[in-house]
Amino acid sequence: MVNVMYIDTHIHVDGMSEDELRYMVSNGIDRAITCAYYPIEPRYPQTFLDLFTRLIDYDVPKAREWGLTLYVAIGIHPRSISKTGYELIIDAMKSLSEHEVVVAFGETGLQLASDKEINILQTQLELANELEFPIIVHTPSANKREITEKTLPLLDKTRINPKLVVIDHVNDETISIMDESGYNIGLTVQYGKLTPEIAAELVIQYSDNNEIVLNSDNGFRKCDIASVTKTINILKSLGADKSLLERVSHKNAENIFKI
Ligand SMILES: [Zn+2]
Repeated sequence: MVNVMYIDTHIHVDGMSEDELRYMVSNGIDRAITCAYYPIEPRYPQTFLDLFTRLIDYDVPKAREWGLTLYVAIGIHPRSISKTGYELIIDAMKSLSEHEVVVAFGETGLQLASDKEINILQTQLELANELEFPIIVHTPSANKREITEKTLPLLDKTRINPKLVVIDHVNDETISIMDESGYNIGLTVQYGKLTPEIAAELVIQYSDNNEIVLNSDNGFRKCDIASVTKTINILKSLGADKSLLERVSHKNAENIFKI
């Protein structure tokens, strides 16, 4: 194994194979956070309860067998809102937040910014604020800038401590809005999102004012499994100093998620 020090802050382990997990570890990624997401709109809120239990009781030990220390984020993704009864999920999030492998709520966020999505994001933000618990807030591929501009005021309104929040899938189009906002920035290095080269440039340009974490969003589709390692290697080749490399590769994530 090489440089086993990197954290991938956003994967979907339930959409990955064991070979893919092994490949992450052999590329130096020894810790990761898997985010709750369900690939269809669930009919029943209970689906989430089984999903959370699956991630905690099945995927965490399975990942450990391959050398990956896995942590779990639980929450309602805007594309997986159950038809009814989401209050049940919020109650489960509240009690499971005390579980030792659960380190954040997520992924949450807005996809189309419908009233229902806004309502559910607000509820999750209020819970994170009340419990002082980290929360991962997704931004969508389509209309990213417009939706990000709708998301940030919702966060501001709850007065949540910005240090608890990771705005995720930030790209070259939206990173300037985040600059100096105090919210942590997640850069997702993946096909259709950021290339390792562009992610490395953004880290260098924006890391003075922001805490940046790197992730792959691996799972459920064609993935560049070790994209976090590639980005760190590019940062090294660009001459990034040791403290910057440590911050983006693991220290920022350790501080935000208390891992
Ligand atoms: Zn995701």
